[in-house]
Amino acid sequence: MGEYIFDRAWARAQDAADPLRDFRGEFLIPPHGEGEQVYLCGNSLGLQPRATRQALLDELDDWARLGVEGHVHGRHPWLPYHREVRDALAEVVGARPDEVVAMNTLTVNLHLLMASFYRPTRERHAILIERNAFPSDRHAVASQIAFHGFDPDHALIELDGDEPGGAISPAAIERALHEHGPRIALVLWPGVQYLTGQAFDLAAIAKLAHAQGCTVGFDLAHAAGNVECNLHDAGADFAAWCSYKYLNSGPGAVAGAFVHERHAGAELPRFEGWWGHREDTRFQMRPEFDPAPGADAWQLSNPPIFSLAPVRVSLEIFRRAGMPRLRERSKRLTGYLEWLIRTRLDDVLEILTPAEPERRGAQLSVRVRAGRDAGRSLFDHLAAQGVLGDWREPDVLRLSPAPLYNRFEDCLALAESVLAWRAGGASWLAP
Ligand SMILES: *Cc1c(COP(=O)(O)O)cnc(C)c1O
Repeated sequence: MGEYIFDRAWARAQDAADPLRDFRGEFLIPPHGEGEQVYLCGNSLGLQPRATRQALLDELDDWARLGVEGHVHGRHPWLPYHREVRDALAEVVGARPDEVVAMNTLTVNLHLLMASFYRPTRERHAILIERNAFPSDRHAVASQIAFHGFDPDHALIELDGDEPGGAISPAAIERALHEHGPRIALVLWPGVQYLTGQAFDLAAIAKLAHAQGCTVGFDLAHAAGNVECNLHDAGADFAAWCSYKYLNSGPGAVAGAFVHERHAGAELPRFEGWWGHREDTRFQMRPEFDPAPGADAWQLSNPPIFSLAPVRVSLEIFRRAGMPRLRERSKRLTGYLEWLIRTRLDDVLEILTPAEPERRGAQLSVRVRAGRDAGRSLFDHLAAQGVLGDWREPDVLRLSPAPLYNRFEDCLALAESVLAWRAGGASWLAP
């Protein structure tokens, strides 16, 4: 950590020397006054790649020029369109191409995958999640439990954080699985926790869950494009993620789903639609369902091309950058932000995110020591300065330097802006 310096020239030199520095130029950074925002919100909505607009216009043109023939003769033919994103999608989450599919949105995919992988019985029908799970995930699992005729009050097990900032230790997960294992049907766990920014060891969790006979699914909303997930090797049964956070594919973009190849061809119950039917015989329009190999079988409808085009553009950028290189850069950037907070702002901000680089992604979650009102005041001050983090009730400020477009200089600007707020005499000291 001694390598970091609080100095603009130093930060600029780091940025100038970075092998990934040119990727920032491929993104549209929102303006602030004459300049640009310090955008630290990629955990919530990633920025727009410059190439996205043209990709959308191309699809509109192909539709205008070709009508229905765009399905076959478009520049990116619509019939096999989801295949154009498959390899890059697999790469970004560490899966095999047949294990992933771009479809629907995240919560929809969680439900579709639980239709196959949450098969409760009288003896084993509980679901294990984290106490502060993203509300949509909690709604999804609670409604699944109720849908199967069980009572969420008993069958939903929520594990509390046991570390100071609210993080959950591996030991706590192990204890919960030991204690409740025989009654747990499904463990649904985040890759990176949205509120604390904690990254989990997916392979370890999958191993513990499987040892207890539980199915394990991962929600990678905050992990995809942020940390290396190695989904295949981790042994997850299924996973789902959205594409508008670190994956920069635009609001409501088409999400991802993963089904491990050991389930390919298995006689799993599944909600089915014509797009999950084998492609080579789909248009024979026969009544029986003949599933496509792998995750493709979970597709229901022909995909929304205007929502998939941005995914294709974005994944192509990830492909060129490469997750291992991005992750290296991310660790240094977030490490710098952490160092700035610990050495300059420790009296103002408490970091909730684990300190070990392996236990977090880009995001640092911080709490203003002086409490919620001071936190809101700081958040508003930062926004007025064009420094954008995001606020999560009750009192968490999330700051995420995204390695594709954020810079050391952005981390420094954040720190300077907090220092200015402190110097302004606000009631920043803890009471
Ligand atoms: C962002 C996020 C969601 C959002 O769900 P959508 O279906 O995309 O609206 C759900 N779960 C988690 C963990 C998230 O981080």
